[in-house]
Amino acid sequence: MRKAIFFDRDGTLNDFKLGEYITKADELVLLKGAARAVKKANDAGYLCIVVTNQGGVIHNKGITYSDVELINERLIELLKNEGAKIDSLYFCPHYPEVESCDCRKPKTGLISMSMRDFDINLQDSYMIGDSDSDILAGKNARIKTIGIGERIKVEANFCTYNVEEAVDYILKGEKNCPKLV
Ligand SMILES: [Mg+2]
Ligand SMILES: [Zn+2]
Repeated sequence: MRKAIFFDRDGTLNDFKLGEYITKADELVLLKGAARAVKKANDAGYLCIVVTNQGGVIHNKGITYSDVELINERLIELLKNEGAKIDSLYFCPHYPEVESCDCRKPKTGLISMSMRDFDINLQDSYMIGDSDSDILAGKNARIKTIGIGERIKVEANFCTYNVEEAVDYILKGEKNCPKLV
């Protein structure tokens, strides 16, 4: 069995402003420390899996499923260029006002899909994200959660300011760190 870190995409690994959408691969810019964070997790033996809701951009900006795939591939490529490996990426293409699904975070379908592809030990796995829906997805899947940034309103196991600090926290095993935000 492998331990895993599930990473949200927008606002966690790449720069993202709330209410805006990434519609083209060349708009995607890694956040500072994102590649280092993933590489540290790789080196510590964690599967690194991205789980991302992309129904909003498909519905509101009219981009296609394959446009999203190109953007996702760009993310993986930029990380790879800095020596960081994403083991897999799962995205929800659904938009709640149009169709219901089991995969849009805070639902657990994306995490469940990964469990079909990998033998994952949930007890030692984490979800890192910048939205309450990320934290709730992690809680619903019964994994530990780390919130990053200032938008988190629900309780996570730990909160910090960026993804590298989140991974550092996991690797240090500081279960009793104070909640910062
Ligand atoms: Mg996000
Ligand atoms: Zn979905």
